[in-house]
Amino acid sequence: MMITSKGRAREWHLARRPQGQVSADDFALVETEISELRPGQVLVRNTHLSVDPYMRGRMDDRPFYIPPFPLRAPLEGGAIGVVVESRADDVKPGQVVEHFLGLREATVIDAAGVVPIDTDDLPAETYLGVLGATGLTAWLGITRMASVRSGDTVFVTGAAGAVGSIAGQIARLRGAKQVIGSAGSSAKVRHLVDDLGFDTAFDHHDGATGEHLAQAAPDGIDVVFDNVGGAQLEAAIDHLRVGARLALCGMASQYDGREPHGLRNLYQLVTKRVTARGFLVTDHQDQMPAFRAEVGSWVRSGEIVHRQTAVNGIERMPEALLGLLRSGAPTIGKAVVRLQEQA
Ligand code: NAP
Repeated sequence: MMITSKGRAREWHLARRPQGQVSADDFALVETEISELRPGQVLVRNTHLSVDPYMRGRMDDRPFYIPPFPLRAPLEGGAIGVVVESRADDVKPGQVVEHFLGLREATVIDAAGVVPIDTDDLPAETYLGVLGATGLTAWLGITRMASVRSGDTVFVTGAAGAVGSIAGQIARLRGAKQVIGSAGSSAKVRHLVDDLGFDTAFDHHDGATGEHLAQAAPDGIDVVFDNVGGAQLEAAIDHLRVGARLALCGMASQYDGREPHGLRNLYQLVTKRVTARGFLVTDHQDQMPAFRAEVGSWVRSGEIVHRQTAVNGIERMPEALLGLLRSGAPTIGKAVVRLQEQA
């Protein structure tokens, strides 16, 4: 299907709010007419859509840091696409751009809402992963929240995911003495050690996290970069050293309609004089240039390895998203929906 402003395109809607765990039936793929461009607007044909765990929070109708997804309206999220028509002077057809009106094949958007990206030496989808919001999140947590320094022992939960895989590598490049990662399958554990250079990794389904940490870091942990919360965070707190730093990035184990896991050992944050910092990447967009300068050079030199797990075709968006909301799914690195080239 050729995408033009006279054409039609498919977009994902939230058909109903999930009851408990999200299912593919909570979404609807809807075909709609592409609207005419007004002056200052561009039509973008999306090539790559980002799916991210925080989207689960937007499916519920309750206070969150970003408004809930409305029902029966196009969903949004990070996306990369190509401008196919333009009524804006400064954006030309053919330009590759990033924007936030994802989870659809095409979008008409004000030119101010797109950011041109340079795809000369890196694939476009890099800007959804290692050089996009997930990479920035990893960099902020390691460098700004936990201030990893030379000699630190660092533990990253959800370490084979989009954020965790980059966080662990940045910690090593910033001088960590030891980087430990947890993940939800033996394939992910092998990837962490063999491909990403983690010193130690373990499958958190395979025995107690506390026992793995006691074995890997008998003298304790200086920094935790936490992506999953729950039992793994509780075990990590037991193994913190005095003066440890905790970067609280996310709690993926708690998102999908599950009973929250209460932490029973928070008093240790007092006795160990721990600095725990929650943070949101959206508050730190001004750091993008500094982040891209440092991490971009590591990506180009090959010192940072970055993976993506892509599904092909907009129809498969729910499968890609659901894979992030349970442990042990095959997704490694950044989860992306790749849209087929339209003939
Ligand atoms: P991701 O790690 O690629 O995917 C989520 C992973 O969480 C899954 O692959 C799974 O890993 C783990 N998980 C899911 N359900 C779980 C459960 N019930 N128990 C244990 N583990 C479970 O996702 P990401 O995009 O990189 O995001 C990682 C975290 O960072 C998320 O919590 C996300 O919300 C957060 N985040 C925060 C910010 C911010 O600004 N603070 C920005 C971006 C992302 P295993 O299969 O290995 O167990």
